Amino acid sequence: MGIVDTHCHLTDAPLFRNLDGVMERAAAAGVDRFVVPGYDLASSRSACRLAAAHPQIKAAIGLHPAWIGAVEVTSGFSPEPFRQMARLRHPVAIGEIGLDYALEDFSTTVQAAVLETQLELAALLSLPVIIHCRRAFELLYLILRKFSGVTGVIHAYGGGPKLAEKFLALGYYIGFGGGVTRPNAKKVRETALIVPPDRILLETDAPYIGSHTVLKGESEPKDCLAAAQSLAELRGLSLAETVAMTTANAETLFSG
Ligand SMILES: [Zn+2]
Repeated sequence: MGIVDTHCHLTDAPLFRNLDGVMERAAAAGVDRFVVPGYDLASSRSACRLAAAHPQIKAAIGLHPAWIGAVEVTSGFSPEPFRQMARLRHPVAIGEIGLDYALEDFSTTVQAAVLETQLELAALLSLPVIIHCRRAFELLYLILRKFSGVTGVIHAYGGGPKLAEKFLALGYYIGFGGGVTRPNAKKVRETALIVPPDRILLETDAPYIGSHTVLKGESEPKDCLAAAQSLAELRGLSLAETVAMTTANAETLFSG
């Protein structure tokens, strides 16, 4: 069928331990390509290694706000290791990066600075970005607006349709996964209705985000099929039309 899971953490233990099984179950559900984002240097390296070993896997590299450490807080963030990795390993995106104001202990200024440096890197490398955001959509918008040459995806978007319009106007794609399968996820389902057909992506964030039927921590790329089915139902499309639309978008955005 050709579904692309544009956001799954195949590098992480629950999936990596049984990668063959995970990929077989995905293939049986029509999910046959994967974008694996890193969230720090080690996971970014692992994502690149997976991409080198499997033609159906593409890697993204970056520092996620939850993995900002004492080094970045005291001496600032150096993009140099990521720049070198990009030159050698050719990832298809910078990510996942972003803002997370739901974290218990964080500095808003450090998060914003780390994000801006990585947006500069994406601009320098002409790569799209994979954005993670919780409780900081207004500030995220102000920052992304400054980098008009950069586009990407707002992954697992939870900000509602009004804000989504603003990110769409900047050229961003919106990623939908387990959230859209939940009948009571009103904001997500409303957003799924207003996103233009050429800006929708499918993802799972496996193993972390669950769905209507799968517990969080236990999802797999195969669960992209359920998200595709929910999107199809919501938008009054066939499953085949939904897959064709989202896969074309994934190929366009992650063409690197
Ligand atoms: Zn993720």
